[in-house]
Amino acid sequence: MLESDLRHQAAQLNTQVMSHLENVDVTFRTGVIGEHDQEFLELLPATSDIYRFKLFDDTGQVIWSTRAAEIGSVTNKTDFIATVAMGNILYNHEEKPIAEVDFFDTDKLDASAPSTRHVAEIYTPAIKDGRFLGAIEFYSDITQVRNLFITRVRLSLFVLCSIALLALTAVIVVLYRTNLQQVRVLRARAEKERELMDDQLRLAREVRLLGELNEWLQSSRSLDELFDMVSRFMTHILPEAEGSVYVYSNSRDVLDGCASWNGGTHKAHIHPEGCWGLRRGRTYEFGASEIDFVCEHAEPHDGRPYFCFPILAHGETVGLLHLRALEDREECFHASKKLAQLCAEQISMAIANVRMRDQLHDQSVRDPLTGLFNRRHMTETLRKSINRSQQTGAPLSLIAVDVDHFKKFNDTHGHDAGDMVLRAVGAALEQGCDRDEVACRTGGEEFTLILPDNTPEDAMTRAEKLRQAVEAVSVRYGEKSLPRITISVGVAHYPAHGTMPQDLMRAADDALYAAKDKGRNQVQVACGAPGNIAAPLPVQGQQRETQKSSPPASAA
Ligand code: GH3
Ligand code: MG
Ligand code: MG
Repeated sequence: MLESDLRHQAAQLNTQVMSHLENVDVTFRTGVIGEHDQEFLELLPATSDIYRFKLFDDTGQVIWSTRAAEIGSVTNKTDFIATVAMGNILYNHEEKPIAEVDFFDTDKLDASAPSTRHVAEIYTPAIKDGRFLGAIEFYSDITQVRNLFITRVRLSLFVLCSIALLALTAVIVVLYRTNLQQVRVLRARAEKERELMDDQLRLAREVRLLGELNEWLQSSRSLDELFDMVSRFMTHILPEAEGSVYVYSNSRDVLDGCASWNGGTHKAHIHPEGCWGLRRGRTYEFGASEIDFVCEHAEPHDGRPYFCFPILAHGETVGLLHLRALEDREECFHASKKLAQLCAEQISMAIANVRMRDQLHDQSVRDPLTGLFNRRHMTETLRKSINRSQQTGAPLSLIAVDVDHFKKFNDTHGHDAGDMVLRAVGAALEQGCDRDEVACRTGGEEFTLILPDNTPEDAMTRAEKLRQAVEAVSVRYGEKSLPRITISVGVAHYPAHGTMPQDLMRAADDALYAAKDKGRNQVQVACGAPGNIAAPLPVQGQQRETQKSSPPASAA
């Protein structure tokens, strides 16, 4: 910048000199300078920034100089020919002692100032009409300008650096903010991903537990066993909730409390009308709306949220799953609704399965007309009872029952009426049974009762009571009451009349035939029984039928 300014200034001075010289060609060719030119040349340093200058002819010899002693000397600059003679400006910058600088006023300097000055020596070609005539060399003290230039450069650099610093700071701030934002976004994303991962892990655990629950529930054999499993699993799957489960009683007017877990309690019975879930036939969530009503079975209620899931089996409501949030676990509890719903569905399916299994089992062991056990079940139960008596020594009796003259009854009143009577007889016999005693329908109008823990005397008394009970049965058929029927009863005791099921059954049957033979409507004990052998018990208030007498039905 500085150099180009100086070159430009030198070129201008060159032009000025060339234009002022009266005869440039002659001056440079001969070195002769007129008085007028001399005056102009001597004044030039005073009217410009240069302190010294020289005129050279085209060979490099000094033809005029502000220092007269130099006139006639030849420049030793090698570049003179190579650069200046080629029409170019030759610029040279040197540091020279102050003494070298003409007209320099040393008083202007303070003591600490350097003893050298920066000097620019600029050769400019003297060219006229395209011809190289020689050169003019200008000397200029550029110390001040250079210092100013350096100061300006420094200032500019400082300003530039400051701007750069500011820009850098701004960039850093922007980057920092952008990074901060990105970090926040990344953090939020990481948080979200962690939550997602947690959710997936929770889901996987829930699916696993539900699978296990399902597997266990499917293998349960009874409702009691099933509810035991439910209690244990629910405590594990939904630890934030206490719970209870209710199942409709056979009468379907109430639900029986079956199980409770995790600190929950269940009532013995609840009314379906008192549960909003059962009443509306869908899940009821207490604590989810602004206005809620408390179910009767949830009383006393302390405000904790709860769910009521109706339990459905094959489209029919069979029970209720009630879950209530534990203290301070309300939030988790609400979040677990879906899982709880899945559990309720699993429990529903399991109950349906157990019920279906029970029904199938019932169908295989029950007689459809009377609801009593069938012959197959009787044989099996008798076998088990004999085994038990063998082990414990407990007494055991078997009672065979046959309705008297039932063919005639059927013929007279019809098969449907006969069925009704058979049902009534079955009900009377079943009612006559105690806890472990079993009544079975072993044939058309034939029944058998197994009486464990009955001494022979007790069994005889029980048989007579049964006979009387059947005799007292009154069945209405349409508008009329059917005539009463009687039964003949044979009793056999273990081990007196047999230690094998078929022996005991045959002995009871033989006693039954004996009762028939002896006139029906009576009880006979098998042969060989201790005391009272094949002897009919007295029938009170009724004349016993002889073998030839007419049956009660026809008599009626
Ligand atoms: P007895 O006093 O000697 O036992 O005479 P009975 O007529 O009862 O004996 P029998 O064996 O001759 O007849 C049995 C009758 O029981 C024949 C059949 O009509 C009737 N019966 C068998 N099963 C059923 C049933 O499921 N429903 C009805 N209504 N009758 C049945
Ligand atoms: Mg019979
Ligand atoms: Mg009969």
